Amino acid sequence: MPKHKLDNLLQKIGRPAYQILPIENKTNETLAKEQLLTASKFGGDPYFEAGEQWPICGKCENAESFICQLDLRQAKDAQLPSSFGLLTFFYCFQCFPWDAPQPGWTVRNYPQADIAKAVSIEKPAPKQVGFFKKLFAKNNASENSKVSLVEFKSFICYPQLDELDEIAEGLAPEFKSLQAEVEENGKEDFCDIYYQTIEQSGQDSDNFGTIIGGYSQWIQCFPPDLKCKHCQSWMRQLVQLGSEKKLDIMFGDAGCIYLSICDEHPQEISMMLQCF
Ligand SMILES: [Zn+2]
Ligand SMILES: [Zn+2]
Repeated sequence: MPKHKLDNLLQKIGRPAYQILPIENKTNETLAKEQLLTASKFGGDPYFEAGEQWPICGKCENAESFICQLDLRQAKDAQLPSSFGLLTFFYCFQCFPWDAPQPGWTVRNYPQADIAKAVSIEKPAPKQVGFFKKLFAKNNASENSKVSLVEFKSFICYPQLDELDEIAEGLAPEFKSLQAEVEENGKEDFCDIYYQTIEQSGQDSDNFGTIIGGYSQWIQCFPPDLKCKHCQSWMRQLVQLGSEKKLDIMFGDAGCIYLSICDEHPQEISMMLQCF
């Protein structure tokens, strides 16, 4: 099939995004403690501002675990609403929420995050613990100490085929005719060609890591209910949080958490988790 047609289509749908990569062996020693509070990173101490409290799970009432914080002001090319600054993300591994209406996850947004405003808050001890656990709680405080700074690597991100099928309304005729052309030919499988072309462009077609912007790389399949509850338009990816095995961050079986927004209502962040 005419490869340039597919290239043209991909050019129209590709979104600039950032792959977030932990920097090995670069931890608290390389940055002053204050700098570390505002840096993009996994683990360590989250950024807070005066008057805040550590997020508490609405279900089990324990403190949620701090996963990461990402400064979207460093991710300008992702063309996300400018109202996003430093995002912090917390999750309750005991309650393991799968989607937005369930409690046990928190995203906080600090559009003007700054070292001068950074406040450090200690994670509250677990609620229902016995006497001995309380006694040793100080030792367990190291739970969040595995900290890793990250680097932002920009790339062009493409949707998976089932998402493209749903959302690319304006491109539908072009996309459908291309698909039909390939199927008529009978020799090639459109799905194979599509992902091969993506791979050739340099994007991993199994990109289940951490991504800012772009398209969600769904582990299971594109959720057809990914629509804004206010305006019913398709939501798009804010951040994909992958499991980071080396940092002991595992969402189920190497799952991903997908945070999505609608451009008209960016304050409403939706969350979904998918696992293998
Ligand atoms: Zn919980
Ligand atoms: Zn909306």
